[in-house]
Amino acid sequence: MRLLLVSDIHGNLEALEACLDSAPEHDSVANLGDVVGYGASPNQVIDLVREMAPINVRGNHDRCCCGMVDLSNFNPVAAAAALWTRSKLSDFNLDWLIGLPRGPRRDAAWEGAQFVHGSPLGEDDYISSEFSANAALEGTSSRLTFFGHTHIQCAFTRPRRLAEPLPLERLNSASRAQVSRLKLNPAQQYLVNPGSVGQPRDRDRRAAFALYDSKKHEIRFYRVPYDIKRAQERILQAGLPEMLATRLADGR
Ligand code: ZN
Repeated sequence: MRLLLVSDIHGNLEALEACLDSAPEHDSVANLGDVVGYGASPNQVIDLVREMAPINVRGNHDRCCCGMVDLSNFNPVAAAAALWTRSKLSDFNLDWLIGLPRGPRRDAAWEGAQFVHGSPLGEDDYISSEFSANAALEGTSSRLTFFGHTHIQCAFTRPRRLAEPLPLERLNSASRAQVSRLKLNPAQQYLVNPGSVGQPRDRDRRAAFALYDSKKHEIRFYRVPYDIKRAQERILQAGLPEMLATRLADGR
């Protein structure tokens, strides 16, 4: 069984479409949150995700964009994007956002796995270091935790006392996508972040996603180029803050 993992799409339709074009065949899709906020295509992105992903968790931007929480914790740029997104959302898509479940979420089809936006310890927590990864692994019994929120494609495990970021094995690929592989030891616990589709922050501007193969016990991590110029133009045309366009080209 193969599960497509997408996270932090942030209303970037151009990036999502490039990921779906490059994605190999899969049996299901999990969305790890932050579908909207920042990008210029909130309704189109929600329409696609609603159709394809039976597994969803809500992100902090999803909650802010539908008015579930106030914007006081957001910086001015993120707050402006959230208000703009709220003003554009259709009633149907607003209701879909409001109804998104809080993580951790489990699914009978994917035994041993859980889905969160930030961390199993808190939906807004960041797993961004060995220290926070270790705390997250200690706090959960799930063998596999799929998370997002940091916009960094990575994985952690705990062979020793502290979790360690895992080196990914680069594979040659016939398509435009760069593919890396992580072999899973079924006896170990892992935290896996597929990276951000719509706003990568690891200085690699290409859109990120991942594929989990439960039979082969492996994760494949993908990076795909997309039409950044078009995504930027649409952000500027929408009147969103210019910085949201420029950062896409910098990958941060
Ligand atoms: Zn995000």
